[in-house]
Amino acid sequence: MNLNTVTEVKRPTATDEIPRWREGYAYLAGGTWLFSTPQIATHTLIDLETLRWPALKLSSDGLDIAATCTIAELEQFQAPANWTAAPLLKLCCHALLMSFKIYNAATVGGNICMSLPAGAMISLASALEGVYTLWPQGGKPRKVSALEFVTGNHMNVLGPGELLRSIHLPASALEKRFAFRRNSLTHLGRSAALIVGTRSQTGEDLLLTITASTARPMQLGFDRLPSAGALRRAIDAAVKDADWFDDVHGSAPYKRHLTYYYAEQIRTELA
Ligand SMILES: Cc1cc2nc3c(=O)[nH]c(=O)nc-3n(C[C@H](O)[C@H](O)[C@H](O)COP(=O)(O)OP(=O)(O)OC[C@H]3O[C@@H](n4cnc5c(N)ncnc54)[C@H](O)[C@@H]3O)c2cc1C
Repeated sequence: MNLNTVTEVKRPTATDEIPRWREGYAYLAGGTWLFSTPQIATHTLIDLETLRWPALKLSSDGLDIAATCTIAELEQFQAPANWTAAPLLKLCCHALLMSFKIYNAATVGGNICMSLPAGAMISLASALEGVYTLWPQGGKPRKVSALEFVTGNHMNVLGPGELLRSIHLPASALEKRFAFRRNSLTHLGRSAALIVGTRSQTGEDLLLTITASTARPMQLGFDRLPSAGALRRAIDAAVKDADWFDDVHGSAPYKRHLTYYYAEQIRTELA
């Protein structure tokens, strides 16, 4: 839709061209959410595309994803063979309610900054122990873990004018075994639950990441594979009644049920 309150679009080619933050400014990434609803409080968009950040950087430490990397670019990434958890990239890219237009325009950073429970890039980064680099205006860059970034439905730790610059997925997490489960009430709909388990290749551990069914990502770590009962009790202890996310994409009891159900499937698959 046309944003008829917007009177200016700034296109910085370097970060020092980003103006001092004022009320009414908004960063523009893929624009798939920004242009989907009126933005009555916004008069100026600051386009991040013109910064031309390289989308993906692979190193022995892992994968660095620019916030401006599109879902399509991430989906097409060819990972090294020893990154056994890399299929999660594609699985999460396909876990969005997504038209062709959203697939090609939406960015990884835009999805994370939206901080919706069904944000599949949040699921991906949380499950793969991601760390975000944030650039506060006028301050030093800071690092925040994917788990700590989202604080609630459509809420996160970004301060005014603070940019999400990049997402680092460590090689140690990408080399793990994984199991993935997702469900949505409607075909191609928003996720009601997206649950991922990961385990070291040789270790006894299990890391279970719960997303979409809860307002923010939740993670349970075990040194040894828990029993079915212990896993259920750990979910009960970690996720309080108010944490289950109730919306048109599924009631809280339904999402809780899916979470227990998939967590047990994941435990069995990774045993
Ligand atoms: C039909 C439809 C279906 C959708 N389905 C889903 C879904 O299933 N799950 C889901 O999570 N979302 C969904 N969305 C919402 C949205 O399209 C996605 O979250 C998308 O990934 C947002 O990315 P974008 O690059 O288009 O962000 P934009 O729309 O450009 O920006 C989104 C927000 O993030 C801010 N922002 C963007 N990049 C940065 C940055 N680097 N640093 C700081 N702030 C930044 C913007 O200022 C804005 O507030 C849907 C939207 C539509 C219209």
